Amino acid sequence: MQIYNKLLEEYGPQGWWPVYSLRNTLGRDDRGYFVSGVFIETNYRASLRKSTILEIAVGAILTQNTSWINVEKAIDNLVKDNLMDPNIILKIPQDELANAIRPSGYYNQKAKKLKILTRYLLDGNFYEDGNIPNRENLLELWGIGEETADSILLYAYGVPLFVIDEYTRRIFGRLGILESTQSYKEIAEVLNRELEKDFIVYQEYHALIVKHAKEHCRTKPDCLKCVLREECSFFQNVQVYTY
Ligand code: SF4
Repeated sequence: MQIYNKLLEEYGPQGWWPVYSLRNTLGRDDRGYFVSGVFIETNYRASLRKSTILEIAVGAILTQNTSWINVEKAIDNLVKDNLMDPNIILKIPQDELANAIRPSGYYNQKAKKLKILTRYLLDGNFYEDGNIPNRENLLELWGIGEETADSILLYAYGVPLFVIDEYTRRIFGRLGILESTQSYKEIAEVLNRELEKDFIVYQEYHALIVKHAKEHCRTKPDCLKCVLREECSFFQNVQVYTY
């Protein structure tokens, strides 16, 4: 929580998960992010609806192996072509869906994944209020790994699960909190034990980690201006080595 508070103080709320179709409404900006400073929980709860759940689930798949800028282009295509609807995603030919999401890369695979996930969410009534998919069942779906499943559960359903990606491993590894050999499950256990069970903290924390990995803790880290340098093993060791 100490690291979380430092990152939050440094960067402010990140306004995740962006929902393009809700841009400029419910406290969101023109890219669908919550505007910093608004009471996020109120707006988050007000925005929980079928289309939001679908768009977050779609975004979680589209963002695999690509940047969010490319995902935005693909989502823009889906919204503009009126394809952001579970029944339409299931009905249209897979190659047509693939063409719409082409900017996100791996579009043939991702179109197949979208159809499988959409079918699962529709059959299980998971677009309806209060129904939450089971993590194990999500993981059984083709193309859904732990990071994608946890992103969907955390951001679309408000389940407090820590999303662990390469940035998480890099930053916590350098801080000396995690070891590079630890599995997803082991890392999740450590983080879930240490953090408040508050889904808003989990949502914000993951977004802050992504921000920090892009701003300072890059592949080649920019440590001198980093707010975490006092507690960072990597930085301390580099200092020992340097001086
Ligand atoms: S001090 Fe350097 S290595 Fe440590 S968290 Fe900051 S940027 Fe990353």
